[in-house]
Amino acid sequence: MLTFELVTPEGVKFTEEAYEVLLPTPNGQIGILPHHMPLVTLAVPGVIGIRRRADDPDSRIEHFATGGGFVEVDGKRLRLLADTAEHAEDIDELRAKEALERAQELQQTAEDHVALADATALIERNLARLKVTEIKRRHNRM
Ligand code: ATP
Repeated sequence: MLTFELVTPEGVKFTEEAYEVLLPTPNGQIGILPHHMPLVTLAVPGVIGIRRRADDPDSRIEHFATGGGFVEVDGKRLRLLADTAEHAEDIDELRAKEALERAQELQQTAEDHVALADATALIERNLARLKVTEIKRRHNRM
């Protein structure tokens, strides 16, 4: 087992043992299992998956949406220092949809690179939230 610590400026969002943690990185989704080699990498906006036990099926994976951050794997500990992270149960879908629309407008009207990058990050963060609510809906139907 490994200990997954998910920390945001708001505080510790998760700190428990897990068998496998799936993380969005610039090179795509990676899976961290116990005894992973030491690693430092970026996380990008996307979906975090936590498989608590080796025999848990995919339908039992717990999901968080994140806006991205830094990942550190060392020994039996995986730490993600993230700008934002919300558990599937805590995501307000309407808020994410409205924020996505506002961000898309901001992207259209951005007048410099900084404004464009901010709008793009907002879009990605809210798309990740909506992806998690969609996964949750799919699992509830099964
Ligand atoms: P909004 O424009 O919807 O108010 P924001 O841009 O202020 O959002 P962020 O900066 O991404 O939002 O996040 C601010 C805080 O609010 C973070 O703690 C984040 O986890 C939380 N948060 C943002 N959107 C949602 C959401 N749709 N559901 C649950 N928590 C959210």
